[in-house]
Formats: sequence, C-alpha cells, structure tokens
Amino acid sequence: MRRYLVAGNWKMNTTRATGEELAGALAANASAEEAGVEVLVCPPFPYVSAISEKVSGSAVQVGAQDVYFEAGGAFTGEVSVDMLKDVGCQYVLIGHSERRHVMGECDETINKKVKAAIAGGLKVVLCVGELLSEREASQTEAVLDRQMEGGLADISESDANHLVIAYEPVWAIGTGVVATTEQAESAHDHLRKWVAKHYTAAFADQIRILYGGSVKADNAEALLGQPNVDGALVGGASLKADAFIPIIDAAR
Ligand code: 13P
Repeated sequence: MRRYLVAGNWKMNTTRATGEELAGALAANASAEEAGVEVLVCPPFPYVSAISEKVSGSAVQVGAQDVYFEAGGAFTGEVSVDMLKDVGCQYVLIGHSERRHVMGECDETINKKVKAAIAGGLKVVLCVGELLSEREASQTEAVLDRQMEGGLADISESDANHLVIAYEPVWAIGTGVVATTEQAESAHDHLRKWVAKHYTAAFADQIRILYGGSVKADNAEALLGQPNVDGALVGGASLKADAFIPIIDAAR
C-alpha cells in the first residue's frame, strides 16, 4: 500500500512572511496527519530554515527545490546536501522542468545530484516529463525512458528506496491545462513498468509516482483516484492554504 504524498513547490514565490503564514496554516491542518497523507512544502532556499521552524512538530515536511552535487567549495551560488539537512530539509526536488528547460540542466547533472542527495541522506523527488512537441510527436514514453535512464544511471535499488518520481508534463505546468486522467495514468503506468524492468516488480509496486501540472482542488480527486497516481506535486495551487488543503484532503 503506497502512502499518498502531496507536495507544494513554491518555486520563486512567497515572502518570508507569506511563506511562514502558509506553513503555519498547513501545520495546523490536522487532516493530513489523521489520514496518513504525507505533506511536503518546498520553499525558496532563503526561507527553508524559517519554514522548517514553523512546521516543526507537525506532520508537514520540508524540501528544497534543487541542490548541488559537490559537498562544498568554490561553487558560487550553489547549495550542498549537508546545508539543506542542516536547515531542516528531508526532501529535495531534482530535475524539475524549469531546471531542465529554463536553466538548461541535463540528465547527467541530474544524475549526479540524485546520487549526492541520496548518499547524503535526503529523499529525492525526481521530476520527469515531456514537452508538448514531444507528446505531439508521440515521443512521450521515449522521453520518459531517457530521463529515467539518465537520471537514475548507476543507482541501486536500495538507493532508489529514497526516491519518489514526479511525472510533470511540461505543457501542463502553470498553463491550467491539466493532463486528462487517462494521460496521467498511462504515463504513470509506463514509469512504473520502467521501474519494474530496471529494478524489481516488488520495488515498482512500492515506489510513489506523483502527478504535477495544473493540479487544483477540482481535479485532484480524479487524478489521485488513478491506480498509479500516488500523490501530487503542486505549483500555483500550493501557494494558498485554502487552495492546497483541499488537494491534501482529496488524498484522504
Ligand atoms: P503548477 O501546479 O503551477 O502547474 O506547477 C506544477 C509544478 O511545476 C510543480 O512542480
């Protein structure tokens, strides 16, 4: 039985004050804890520490939106795994579509980050997903295979135990165009089969695969009702408690 994970990716949004207010409201919302839903928030780096303090003692966990693979040194602007743990992160998002397509991150870099994060004791949400042009060219599964193979190269099953996959079709991110339940289920099913083929069927049965891309309160229940959808990675609708809590509730 896979436990739902509902994660909010705040991206480059919030102020310290609005972030703390949001985190406080989520921490005070007991419904997720009662229902055994795992809740995660991923604030911008400068606020991680304050948000960790705000949710401490609650069921809400904190993640970062990115990490660098080196342990330390002359890497201006970057943040290490140990630094993230030091400020209360349990999770880190790696390979988000905006990192891949806006910042030009490649699968090789993503793979180094996944390895470093897992080795250092963080849980990883590895994000994959195709562009609209790739979907229209019937390349969705090939793109997912390439991103999974690249991102998870040389990662053993015991390491992959610390991994969650997020399927985020790029055309659905921030567009209001959500994947249909059939599109989401088909991609998730494909990803789970990829895991079964490259690891084991038993592990594929356990790994969580989140859907991300225009998830809102009114579409969350249908998406989360799909057999292979184990949670949501939410952008815009995670920025307000009254928009995010109904999505958490849909996972109950
Ligand atoms: P939206 O929910 O705003 O479409 O963003 C999805 C996303 O990129 C989460 O990581």
